[in-house]
Amino acid sequence: MKAVAVTPGKTGSVRIIDLPKPNPTGAQALLRIDKIGIDGTDLEINQGAYGEAPSGSDYLISGHECLATVEEVPKNSAGIEKGDLVVPTVRRPDDCLNCRNGESDMCLTGQYKEHGIKGLHGFCSEYSVSDLNFLVRIPEKLGHLAVLLEPMSVAEKAVLQSFKIQERMIWKPKRALVLGAGPLGLLTTILLRTKGLDVTTIATRLGGEYVNSIDQPINSLGSFDLILEETGAASIAAEAQALLNPNGILCFLGIYPAKEASLDIGHLYTDIVLGNKTTFGSVNANIRYFVRGLEDIAIVQQRFRGVLESLFTKVVPPSEFLRAYNPSKDEIKSVIEFRA
Ligand code: BGC
Ligand code: ZN
Repeated sequence: MKAVAVTPGKTGSVRIIDLPKPNPTGAQALLRIDKIGIDGTDLEINQGAYGEAPSGSDYLISGHECLATVEEVPKNSAGIEKGDLVVPTVRRPDDCLNCRNGESDMCLTGQYKEHGIKGLHGFCSEYSVSDLNFLVRIPEKLGHLAVLLEPMSVAEKAVLQSFKIQERMIWKPKRALVLGAGPLGLLTTILLRTKGLDVTTIATRLGGEYVNSIDQPINSLGSFDLILEETGAASIAAEAQALLNPNGILCFLGIYPAKEASLDIGHLYTDIVLGNKTTFGSVNANIRYFVRGLEDIAIVQQRFRGVLESLFTKVVPPSEFLRAYNPSKDEIKSVIEFRA
């Protein structure tokens, strides 16, 4: 079978390789892949900046945003059957306290694995395998959108965690700011809109490069109860803090280059104290956020019909995978389609 693979640590190594069809073991399902979404992490791995091959392998099959059809599955209590449309989650647990309790997204050790990213092959091949306990069943009518479920799960986690943390007081957020207008920023924006928030979204990414200045300086936008930082630009992240209302919460979701920005830390800490403010980080998502994400995709589909479809700006066959790995300036989501 054909697979899209990289050599972690090597720049621009993405290529098509030929491999035997994988053999599912024990509690695994064999998946026939329908679609793979490409995101910033995939591009970073191809730049050699990130990613880890499975032990004993010198390549990593890419792809963690996946929609697939179950081809073979052992008898199970999860209700997964041959022919089901499914989305696999990304992360697989180790044996730490959180991982053992269904919170591998909160892993204590860093020894977790991630399909297509860290220590486990991804799904960007004709067939793949996944532990059947990490598959989310997709209803037929959402099949055309479900390759967005993985990034949606990341947005879900950030938003639900923000609200959970804010249960520390009476909190009725009105204005939200989303920094970054890539797929994750747009999904976060749509999600917050369904929750009735007044959302401002700022695009800071120009031509694939993060820039420090934008047309309108972010400190002219007023102040916000909830801010989600998804640009990965440390200077924007540092400025965001000052835009929080008293009792506000700021969530970081980017990977920030070292020593990119400087700030007055004393001033920052005082502002956090005197305003009862919270700043926290969020990464990945466990299966519960995928389930919530699927419910919210259905709600978005009802309320804002056509919006999610409009995020797919490029769909290519596997033979043209390089087009998905070279997004143009105005690209939102590129998808590699194995089966229409
Ligand atoms: C994925 C997450 C993953 C993170 C870090 C993101 O692109 O969506 O599932 O945890 O990369 O590896
Ligand atoms: Zn763990």
